[in-house]
Amino acid sequence: MGARRLFYALWPDEPVLDGLAAVQQRHRDAGRPVPRDRLHLTVLFLGEADLRIAAAAGAAAAAWGGPLRLELDTLGYFAKSRVVWAGATACPEPLIALHRALYRELRRCGVRVGRSRLVPHVTLFRKARPVRGAITEVPEWRVDRITLVSSRREAAGPIYSMEAEWRLGRGGIPECDVE
Ligand code: ATP
Ligand code: MG
Repeated sequence: MGARRLFYALWPDEPVLDGLAAVQQRHRDAGRPVPRDRLHLTVLFLGEADLRIAAAAGAAAAAWGGPLRLELDTLGYFAKSRVVWAGATACPEPLIALHRALYRELRRCGVRVGRSRLVPHVTLFRKARPVRGAITEVPEWRVDRITLVSSRREAAGPIYSMEAEWRLGRGGIPECDVE
């Protein structure tokens, strides 16, 4: 059995998925498309970590954040991993704050994560050739929740499982809403 890796992600709603699928369709010769049910935006990658600690840190960080809006308006390319992604030219401040809050809460829980700059993106193609440029198919994405996901590697591709999900902002963690 492969190791289970954890990451915090935003899962697109149906209108955003429709837009992303339209982009994949338009650029279908770019590479191997990521299946619709795996399209996501990773806010922070944890790797192998304790699930309960990751859940506690995620809940705390989510409660700090608030709903946010994302415009996936551009295609980018990571040459090293050979992926084509849809991204936001302007990274919204609340998303940066959420990313920071996750680091802070993980550190508070004794988990050290290598710092990396947040490049908000949804991977659309793997084993891809470079494609870049503006896209107009994806409607505004209203993000109101964050998900803790585990990933297991299988021959057919990674298997993602939703481990926990929180609403952004107050009300994210009932067990901490002690007044
Ligand atoms: P696979 O690696 O099995 O092909 P995957 O990349 O979708 O599939 P994971 O490697 O578990 O699955 O990654 C889960 C998510 O975390 C993906 O969005 C991936 O881009 C991101 N990720 C993985 N490793 C890192 C890393 N070292 N730094 C930042 N993000 C990462
Ligand atoms: Mg990977």
